[in-house]
Amino acid sequence: MAKPKRKLQIIAGKCIACGVCEGECPFDAIHVEGDVAVIDYEKCTGCGKCVKVCPTDCLFFEGEQAKGEKQAEVAAVPDVAADLAARLAEYQGVWVYIEQSAGQVHPVSWELLGKGRELADVLDCELAAMVLGENVDGVALQAGHYGADKAYIIDNPLLAHYRTYPFAEGCLKLIHNYKPAIVLIGATTLGRDLSGAIATDLHTGLTADCTGLEIDAHSGLLRQTRPAFGGNIMATILCREHRPQMSTVRPRVMEALAPDETRQVEIVRETLEVSEEDIGVTVEQFRPDADLDKPNLQYAEIICAGGRGLGSPRGFELMKELAEALGGVVGASRATVDAGWISHDHQIGQTGYTVRPRLYIAAGISGAIQHRVGMQTSDTVVAINSDPEANIFQIADYGIVGDLYEVVPELIKQAKAGNLKEKLLGDGSG
Ligand SMILES: Cc1cc2nc3c(=O)[nH]c(=O)nc-3n(C[C@H](O)[C@H](O)[C@H](O)COP(=O)(O)OP(=O)(O)OC[C@H]3O[C@@H](n4cnc5c(N)ncnc54)[C@H](O)[C@@H]3O)c2cc1C
Repeated sequence: MAKPKRKLQIIAGKCIACGVCEGECPFDAIHVEGDVAVIDYEKCTGCGKCVKVCPTDCLFFEGEQAKGEKQAEVAAVPDVAADLAARLAEYQGVWVYIEQSAGQVHPVSWELLGKGRELADVLDCELAAMVLGENVDGVALQAGHYGADKAYIIDNPLLAHYRTYPFAEGCLKLIHNYKPAIVLIGATTLGRDLSGAIATDLHTGLTADCTGLEIDAHSGLLRQTRPAFGGNIMATILCREHRPQMSTVRPRVMEALAPDETRQVEIVRETLEVSEEDIGVTVEQFRPDADLDKPNLQYAEIICAGGRGLGSPRGFELMKELAEALGGVVGASRATVDAGWISHDHQIGQTGYTVRPRLYIAAGISGAIQHRVGMQTSDTVVAINSDPEANIFQIADYGIVGDLYEVVPELIKQAKAGNLKEKLLGDGSG
């Protein structure tokens, strides 16, 4: 590589090892090692991208230093790095918001506690549940069974049903008082509403619909991965200068731990400083989701999904027959939803539901990335497609090349005879 025109230097005492330069460098020429960034002069081209983004101005070029400009700037802001580091260090621990209604917890909360446990163990810190509602002590105890060390509770009749304002105020009080480093919330209708309200008030970042969460080995920051640009790339997002680091995760993306009823949880109680007059929204009637007779795709054990290869809406009658014979539910690709063949409640994928069934049968679905991100963690995938090159076969455990109108009736026959589930799942549980 040609010698760089400018030689990069670092004021080690000002570096806070935030890793911004590392993320920005297009040449992989700077890395955080321990508590300081280290420059690899073999790779550095002197492009200056790291200098521009460094939040503490600890990077500069030799010539510029000789002119005294950079030193003057650094001297003028000597406390920025220390202030930022001290502020960030106040935030410790991983928290999960526990979504509940009348004591019934949304399973995504247990799934997030499973992931939260892993993150807290890597960071060697506490995992806490944030529980708001009325009569929620039982929920807090359950959170302990699913991995929480501590539960922060706000128990108040005003929290009997979800309303943004009192729930956000309660969460903000807890976060201001106890300063968690990471807050995870389910990407449900409620979670999407609450997380946005909290993050806005806290002036912190919020990464929605994460599909991967892990701790960066160098910086200890939360690496939040999610699909970007229509699902064509996966973006990893870091929240470097604000706390807490906040992410939402859709149901079924993470896995819950098996509950351990012997696990104890420490309970911390706080009060809600809100009155009914402050809220501005009253609950006239509460109708649980279960009343709406929606297909419970996210937690279904068996899904029989159809794609454009069905050729017409009538194809879904066949898929329904197969689903009924197997004790499952019907899913769909977006192409069929967009064509009006079936309702959006059935859509699986990036802009539909994420599912994790034991058995996923995909008939006439090509396997576009936006579909696969919603179903690729299924235990067993059976793909039926007339095109042997279809992408869906890349992730299928069983691939059947053929016309679905010949294959599916045969599967229905076998399912009705009662031996298909056992054959496909291989454990005799069906
Ligand atoms: C931002 C964005 C978000 C998206 N979100 C989603 C999403 O959430 N979910 C989703 O599914 N898609 C989503 N899509 C669309 C996605 O890119 C694909 O267009 C879509 O998944 C294709 O659906 P399909 O597989 O049913 O149709 P096609 O891609 O048209 O595939 C039809 C398949 O059927 C096969 N076939 C045809 N006839 C038969 C037959 N008789 N027997 C057997 N096989 C047959 C063909 O070989 C083909 O492989 C999204 C796209 C974008 C840009």
